[in-house]
Amino acid sequence: MTTEPRRPRVGVLALQGDVREHLAAIRDVGAEPVEVRLPRDLVDLDALIMPGGESTTMRKLIEIYGLREPILSLARTGAPMLGTCAGMILLAERIADGDEPVFALIDLEVRRNGYGRQLDSFEADLDIPVLGDEPLHGVFIRAPLVTDVGPNAEVLARDANGAPVAVRQGRVLATAFHPELTGDRRLHRLLVAMIERSAGRTA
Ligand code: GLN
Repeated sequence: MTTEPRRPRVGVLALQGDVREHLAAIRDVGAEPVEVRLPRDLVDLDALIMPGGESTTMRKLIEIYGLREPILSLARTGAPMLGTCAGMILLAERIADGDEPVFALIDLEVRRNGYGRQLDSFEADLDIPVLGDEPLHGVFIRAPLVTDVGPNAEVLARDANGAPVAVRQGRVLATAFHPELTGDRRLHRLLVAMIERSAGRTA
């Protein structure tokens, strides 16, 4: 008898922010979405998404619910991680203007709300060669500005001024924009493909 391979389980940190849109995107790419509020929700996850929202609120809730260490352990097992907007801030090794990093899993520096008041929110078509020729429509909402990318990380896309807006380091992906707010699922598909390539994580 053959058994169906189990669908990859992709968690979304569900403390605050645009959780629902990421859950829908995960479903769209054929993986099983899991809402993560407590450390026990991380058991058996194959990947984790940190959504957009308010990074200061998420930072506090991560502390209160004791999620920091278990999420770092999950990352150490090689589970891919995707942080979007506030999620990028949580993943960054360095935050301009003094905030302590939260997970420090990707070698870059961000400035919160760094696009400034006039560009509070904007949309832009982004060239992301790893996703193919078709540009990806990026929605930026009070987005972090990436002010530096260190030698360990790779820039996947830049804005019109040359600032990095999508960065990857190993199995950690971070975007300044919100890929979950459009119907384009290529970034979520890339995240799931990264699971499938990490040996031993698929059943
Ligand atoms: N400005 C928010 C922060 O600093 C991020 C905004 C977003 O995630 N859309 O946390």
